[in-house]
Amino acid sequence: MTFEGLGIDARLIQATDELGYVNPTAIQEQAIPILLSGTQDFIGLAQTGTGKTAAFGLPLLHIIDAAAKYPQALVVCPTRELCMQIVKEIELFKKYMTGISVVAVYGGASIGLQIRDLKRGVQIVVATPGRLIDLIERKAINLEQIKYVVLDEADEMLNMGFQDDIEFILKNTPVRESTWLFSATMPTEIRKVSKKYMKDPKEVTVGKVNTANKNIDHQYYVTTAQHRYETLKRIIDFNPGIYGIIFTRTKLDAQEISERLTREGYDIDALHGDLTQGQRDKVMGQFRDKTLQLLIATDVAARGIDVQGITHVINFELPDDVEIYTHRSGRTGRAGMQGICISIVHAKEMYKFKQIERINNSQFHKMDIPSGKDVCRKQFFSFMDKLLSTDISHGDYETYVPMLAEKFADVSKEDVLKRVAAMEFDRFLKYYENSQDLNVRERDRSVREPRGQEMGRGREREREMQGIDGGRGDARNKYARGGSGYSRLFVNLGTKDGFFKASFLQFVLDMSDLKKEVLGKIDMKDMNSWIEIEKGSAQQMIRALDGKKYKGRSIRMNDADSGGPAGFSGDRSRRPRRGE
Ligand code: AMP
Repeated sequence: MTFEGLGIDARLIQATDELGYVNPTAIQEQAIPILLSGTQDFIGLAQTGTGKTAAFGLPLLHIIDAAAKYPQALVVCPTRELCMQIVKEIELFKKYMTGISVVAVYGGASIGLQIRDLKRGVQIVVATPGRLIDLIERKAINLEQIKYVVLDEADEMLNMGFQDDIEFILKNTPVRESTWLFSATMPTEIRKVSKKYMKDPKEVTVGKVNTANKNIDHQYYVTTAQHRYETLKRIIDFNPGIYGIIFTRTKLDAQEISERLTREGYDIDALHGDLTQGQRDKVMGQFRDKTLQLLIATDVAARGIDVQGITHVINFELPDDVEIYTHRSGRTGRAGMQGICISIVHAKEMYKFKQIERINNSQFHKMDIPSGKDVCRKQFFSFMDKLLSTDISHGDYETYVPMLAEKFADVSKEDVLKRVAAMEFDRFLKYYENSQDLNVRERDRSVREPRGQEMGRGREREREMQGIDGGRGDARNKYARGGSGYSRLFVNLGTKDGFFKASFLQFVLDMSDLKKEVLGKIDMKDMNSWIEIEKGSAQQMIRALDGKKYKGRSIRMNDADSGGPAGFSGDRSRRPRRGE
């Protein structure tokens, strides 16, 4: 099938030709002939990356009356990024058409300018629900003559709580001739909306809903909870040309991992709900320009992001929902390019992973977490390739060659190469020297999980304790339970929270109303600390600090040596690395 065969305007075909679209995608092939009628309600179950923007954009441009200078079509979508993306694509499609204008209206930008744009006589308005309602209430937009309403990523809009807004918009478009709804999934709420506001919609499903894109290679690495961060680093280090998005479940994780990786020299920034629109734009701009190699984001913050050329999506943790997994992985493998979606799972998450694998109906590949040696080798060859392919044709290097020749007269080529390698790789070699195997292998699991059960809490703690005290044997003897009158308390605050030892001491004493004399040694790491305290005062301190907030973060404190209930395992993944 070709675009000509679908019956769209020749000027649109000229534009799609220029964009390199050779054949229509499945959703375009099925949606465009129906939508060109302009009167048929339509439901397209298609994910991002399937070409759905053109599936509604091309027919909209075809049926719009360019001579009538008022809004005739309304596209509603969940985020500002998606809004801008849709407008950008429509602008490209209408390159050879005259008299049609399209405008984006979304929150976080000047409403005054948007009102001015609307007054210019636009035919297509692309909007986020909140800003649109704002404009309706200010009477800055007139929906009286809207004939076509497109709801894009309807499931995401409902997830984000826009159901009432969408219903309001549908109720306030009195001459609507057709409604086109696109969604990756079909939850009951969307069924309800479609039953209420749509008439005999034609429903088209592209492939299987939730079937992952064929261009994506789904891989997973099995490690323990406390090695998640280290595994993430290995994966990044093992892929020198990576341009990727890392997903976390919480804002806090996104922020903390980003800060930690930044400190360790990675090009990364975080995108989460606490950023202002300006900060968000800055981060997105840098990521799009590839000034940032990595973006770490929560699902909500990453909604609607469409960046070309993403090589890897990394799930720092598996999401609970298969749909979320599909959305995340859909950021890569777009527009016919290959992509990799990596999930870091720990033994206890395998059941969740199996479920995603089953529903997603894709082949998932188990990968070995690269060893330190693998990483170094990979980095080494990547660097040497870069060195060999460096373009030296444009510099004025000739001027310096005699000087260089003189300087290096007594150094062999081999030695020069060694020096270059040392300069580049010392960091890696040192870091990965004696690095441990992070894989959890079947054999290990059967030891830890007799009869296929999950690792018991006590056992896990035991292992964690070994990890904590490993290499600090003196401390272990000193703090051994019952060995002195002191308890050792764990707390998830550290130097990263802006504390120095003295200010930290002051803080815990102020909070607990205890005297300095009850304290023993304080051992501070960047994320966690251990406080030695007289046994009789330990509970008072725990009661005073555990569960309280510090800079918006919940403090967790427990007796490190007596298997207290809170916190330990959660923080293990954030333990500082060796030598930090
Ligand atoms: P979408 O699902 O609308 O986000 O589209 C995903 C990507 O596919 C966009 O970058 C489009 O430019 C591209 N695209 C859309 N339709 C086609 C097509 N028929 N052939 C090649 N690329 C396409």
